[in-house]
Amino acid sequence: MLWVGTSWKMNGTLASARDYAEKLVGADASQWSGVQPFIIPPATALSEVRRVLGEDSGILLGAQNAHWEDSGAWTGELSVPQVADAGAELVEVGHSERRQYFGDTDEVVNRKVRSIVAHGLRPVLCVGEPGEVFEEGRTVEFITGQADSALEGVDPSGVVLAYEPIWAIGEHGREPRRDDLVRAFDALHDRYADHVTAVIYGGSVNRGNASGLLEIPGVEGLFVGRAAWSAEGYLEILAIAGEWVRRH
Ligand code: PEP
Repeated sequence: MLWVGTSWKMNGTLASARDYAEKLVGADASQWSGVQPFIIPPATALSEVRRVLGEDSGILLGAQNAHWEDSGAWTGELSVPQVADAGAELVEVGHSERRQYFGDTDEVVNRKVRSIVAHGLRPVLCVGEPGEVFEEGRTVEFITGQADSALEGVDPSGVVLAYEPIWAIGEHGREPRRDDLVRAFDALHDRYADHVTAVIYGGSVNRGNASGLLEIPGVEGLFVGRAAWSAEGYLEILAIAGEWVRRH
């Protein structure tokens, strides 16, 4: 099973979220058989997207963040039970933007992962190195350090581990070359594949490179940003992944 998902980050309204979810539900899911889709809207749209997806669309719903405590005086935060109550089945954690701008250290990421797993949700755990670490050839030690720390004391079996090199994500990201990723996925596969649900790749994925990225040994899915911010874009990548499954 390939895992192919998207986070919409801080984009969209209730109306656009509803429209997106309706397009997914209305599409022919046989195009992506063998693929587990997941979508991660902003928290404001979770319950509406849950309503549109229903319970048996086969498309998993996730939150972009959750606090490690269940409740309390944490102004502006949402807990894992709260995002679950709004319909989330997954929680994204460890994204480089959270680490860079919101103080999500390795310790914070570990606390969040523990809470997500304790509540029976699935973490989509992101790891990724900055450009200078990549240039210095220290990618593997950096990302395995992040993943080991995030998974400390946790049953990792439900985790979707997303490798997202910081230099490859977002509008200033550089599309990675195959060789850039082969070593990293080799190491991630050896270390985690038997323990987690899937090890996937994210960073400037688009319809032109999706199939080639899936060819990299150890890549078990894709985590897509910009190219899947429209339902049409996401559906196209799901169809490419479905076609990849049929060919293999
Ligand atoms: C991301 O930021 O996690 C991401 C994968 O973004 P993009 O696909 O836009 O590079």
